[in-house]
Amino acid sequence: MTHLNKPIRRETDAYYRQRKLVIQIEPPDIIRVKGKGRKIWYVVSVNDIYSLGAKKYAQQAKIDKQNSCLHLRTRYGKCLKCKKQIKKG
Ligand SMILES: [Zn+2]
Repeated sequence: MTHLNKPIRRETDAYYRQRKLVIQIEPPDIIRVKGKGRKIWYVVSVNDIYSLGAKKYAQQAKIDKQNSCLHLRTRYGKCLKCKKQIKKG
């Protein structure tokens, strides 16, 4: 894998308020993003991105887990596996 030893800047296909977003990855662990033609860069660390990605992954995994449950074992209208309240009728 190529080691990040110099800044790399790319124009993306992402937009914010009809303006294309530009991204720059810098050593050792910085990611900058700005609107094309703008001067102000927003700076985040790779760790920030990692934490955000892990959080979103966990949220989605929780949703997937709840949606995949067949609610086969219930008690007082609550599923014993996913703990979800089951509507009657
Ligand atoms: Zn369930």
